[in-house]
Amino acid sequence: MLKISMSPSTSASTVRRAAVFALALSLIFLLFAVSKALTQRRARDERPRPGAAAPTATTTPRRSGVASEGTIAARPRLVLLIVVDQFRYDYLERFGDLFVEGGLRRLQRDGASWTNANYDHVPTETAPGHATLLTGTWPAENGIIANEWLDRDTGKRVTSVSDETVNLFGGGSEERASSPRRLLASTLGDELRLATAGRSKVIGISVKDRGAILPVGRHGSAAYWYSSQTGRLVSSSYYFNQLPAWVERYNEARPVDKFFGARWERLLPEAEYVKRAGADAPAWENEAGAKDSNAFPHVVTGGVSAPGREFYDELNYSPFSNDLLLDFAKQAITNENLGADEDTDVLSISFSANDIAGHRFGPYSQEVMDMTLRVDRQIAALLDFVEARVDLGNTIVAFSADHGVAPVPEHAATLNLPGGRIKSSDVLQAVRNAVKVRYSRNASSGGGQDPTADYIQAFHVGYIYFNTAALKRDGVNREEIERVAGEAAMTVPGIARYYTRTQLERGLVAPADPLARRVLHGFNAQRSGDVLVIQEAFKYLTDSKITATHGSPYSYDTHVPLIIMGNSVAAGRYTEPAAPSDLAPTLASLLRMQPPSNATGRVLVEVIRER
Ligand SMILES: [Zn+2]
Repeated sequence: MLKISMSPSTSASTVRRAAVFALALSLIFLLFAVSKALTQRRARDERPRPGAAAPTATTTPRRSGVASEGTIAARPRLVLLIVVDQFRYDYLERFGDLFVEGGLRRLQRDGASWTNANYDHVPTETAPGHATLLTGTWPAENGIIANEWLDRDTGKRVTSVSDETVNLFGGGSEERASSPRRLLASTLGDELRLATAGRSKVIGISVKDRGAILPVGRHGSAAYWYSSQTGRLVSSSYYFNQLPAWVERYNEARPVDKFFGARWERLLPEAEYVKRAGADAPAWENEAGAKDSNAFPHVVTGGVSAPGREFYDELNYSPFSNDLLLDFAKQAITNENLGADEDTDVLSISFSANDIAGHRFGPYSQEVMDMTLRVDRQIAALLDFVEARVDLGNTIVAFSADHGVAPVPEHAATLNLPGGRIKSSDVLQAVRNAVKVRYSRNASSGGGQDPTADYIQAFHVGYIYFNTAALKRDGVNREEIERVAGEAAMTVPGIARYYTRTQLERGLVAPADPLARRVLHGFNAQRSGDVLVIQEAFKYLTDSKITATHGSPYSYDTHVPLIIMGNSVAAGRYTEPAAPSDLAPTLASLLRMQPPSNATGRVLVEVIRER
């Protein structure tokens, strides 16, 4: 604490030094007495507010003599990460006055909330977002570059969590098992388990496998997700040899079937929705192939007369699947005794229905507004449960999203915003044509066929993948063909930029350009494609008929909530720039532990109260 150097000196300065020392000592004494008095006063408070200046230990006196001198304060017993899949920051502002006291309003009031947190990578998809939150780094480092990509070794498309070496427990015959094996970095939970010899429990829950698995990490205790075929909460042999007994019991009771035929109505009078989201069923919500109507109420049956696959699938995009997750999370806390001892546990819950409904209806729909109001109430119920069971004074709660979402292009276009849909197939055709024109003369094989036909292996989430072997066979210069392809893509109206592997690998893009930086952070040399094509703002680059989507580097996709609530976190609104990759290193700092292996985020020092 206070060190006095004892170098040789004159007797006068020794006396002076002794006086200073005595003064310092009495000051320390005084400070100690004041802090002790404060501690005792806090201890009398029944429910210390998270964020209030008090040692964590006040709510759980323990190991007398160790923590009392302020040398080792007790760690929080639980880290609760709440992710809402597809939740734009502006939802907090657009709908915040309609939130209940105990949900997002409580997190914003008692926690530190960043008003300017943006993902710093592309594509802004579910898997990269969820992987970023607790690895504290971006896809270039954690390896989760998209929801799906082309595995160059096998030539097959893989998902972020697909794993043919593991078995699925509880799923349908056509569903595949998943694991975190493609994650290349450790998570906060991995590090906690390393630090506690595996006693910390780290559990993830979501409707989506990637939403459950990626925040947990490679060394986690368990991840559970929802089977759209069986309506069960499932997991894989990556974690254990069979589902825990409590999960089996939970599924046997068929908790999902009680939602059969449930009517999804608006929570509040329709006028509130018209005011903030417009009419219920505008033309741009007419997704081709959608089975339901665009209007409230939405009755969840899947078009069948008894619970079955169609119903389990349709439940996905109703608020009732969030109810199911909430119920299951409570069961997990109870049955796994989360937060019950000094080895900090992690529970991550990712509410997926917001994303599935968001894709179906768009960010300015009554459905998304209602889903947001409902998830606020579901979060309130979860916080109340944690308060009663673990004590929020013993918990760090973090809230964020994996990405935002763009306005529906047809909606944007009616408002004179540059909305539109660019067909991926048009871009691919332009690239193929240019490659053919440039290289068919040079290619070795002939015989009337297009010798460049196998040059392009895939075009996926904006990435063109070249067939490395074919280019080698024909002696094609990679740098040049990347440029040929990029320039060809630029001829398609609505394409804004392209980036090549050569540029990204050689550091030829300027990180000072935020868009270029997001590309760089999303690029993993082993997994990413060779040319990345970026569309203009408000435009979609897809062949899919989906009503609304996300994935771009623009603010509607990158700007998300970021809130941390806990005893040693200074509550307030923070306008400094932040990123979801800052969450894990900040949590590690609050927990006084090793940050995840590849953490690149900033410790959000502005909110950390040192005790
Ligand atoms: Zn998502």
